[in-house]
Amino acid sequence: MQFQKTAAKLQKILRKTKLFIMEIFNKISIDKAKQLISEAKKIVLTAHLNPDGDALGSTLALYNIFKSEKECKIILPNNIPDTFKWMPSCNEILIWNPSYENLIKEADLIFLLDFNNASRVDKMQKFLEESPAKKIMIDHHPQPQEGLCEVYFSFPEAAATCELVYTFCKECGININIEAARCIFTGLVTDTGCFQFNCTGQRTFQVASELAVMDFDRSEIIHHIYDSYTEGRMRLEGYVLSNKMKVFPEYHTAYISLSLAEAEKFGYKVGDTEGFVNLPLSIENVKFSAFFMERDGIIRCSFRSKGGFKVNTIAEKYFNGGGHDNAAGGKSYKSLEEVVSRFVSLMPKVTKELQ
Ligand code: 5GP
Ligand code: MN
Repeated sequence: MQFQKTAAKLQKILRKTKLFIMEIFNKISIDKAKQLISEAKKIVLTAHLNPDGDALGSTLALYNIFKSEKECKIILPNNIPDTFKWMPSCNEILIWNPSYENLIKEADLIFLLDFNNASRVDKMQKFLEESPAKKIMIDHHPQPQEGLCEVYFSFPEAAATCELVYTFCKECGININIEAARCIFTGLVTDTGCFQFNCTGQRTFQVASELAVMDFDRSEIIHHIYDSYTEGRMRLEGYVLSNKMKVFPEYHTAYISLSLAEAEKFGYKVGDTEGFVNLPLSIENVKFSAFFMERDGIIRCSFRSKGGFKVNTIAEKYFNGGGHDNAAGGKSYKSLEEVVSRFVSLMPKVTKELQ
């Protein structure tokens, strides 16, 4: 606990003084992490609900590194989109059910990857919080939950958790094998939209360039992610753009809403609407975009922005969520119509700085 407090304090000071250098902070964390890893026999890796390429990339990267030497399991709160089922060892992932409680309870070490708060693992939350296992968080969301982990490798400046997994391994002296490299590259590509979003930084390119000298087929990964749509998914995108996108030029805002019944007409599968929230941002004057969809009995909300407009504060304040400055999400238990009309009524107020 004392160690954790010291590390958190140091991180705060470094941020304030803009002397933030990942390596300085890491020295303390890395020594602790190395010790926890070397002592652990049973390791559990987990990531957030509705895992994306970065969540899967970071868990599978560490899994492919640890599995030959440790008793290692990946447990995720829910299903994996088909787009990512080609990833190395993906078929070994366990999807949460209560019979896995003991794996969480008896683990020596748990890695929390690509999320900053235990509520993001849904039904696993209680078991994660109560597990006596030591915990390491590697993540890039702001404001990690305090008191949860022994080590926080938490850097919101990073474009992807996979970028941090790479740095973490390097600093711990852990060798990154080809399978792990493919997983890490997947996370970099998906969280940066192929290195185009604002979050893409110098370190992102540095990690990518170090991966580029390794012997794996990068274009194959891109094809798996972007050229593997079903015909239905492609037509759903056309339908959404023609019929479901509402643009409000005066607010520099656009939104898309989609009911499950509409999506199902196109043979909808989980993951098919990935990226839809970004589509309106290709319009010149649109700087804020939202996507609302019925899923698992609730309304999932996604927000994206261009430039300095922060969407995580909107997600947090009005839609039970959070996330990054330019990419955030949330949920609502109201009807799709109610959520959309709330968003429309909030628009003049929340977009003031864009007008
Ligand atoms: P997406 O729109 O792709 O679902 O999520 C965008 C970002 O917002 C992700 O980085 C994700 O971690 C975050 N996010 C999405 N949904 C939630 C939520 O319900 N709560 C919080 N705190 N963050 C979320
Ligand atoms: Mn991420």
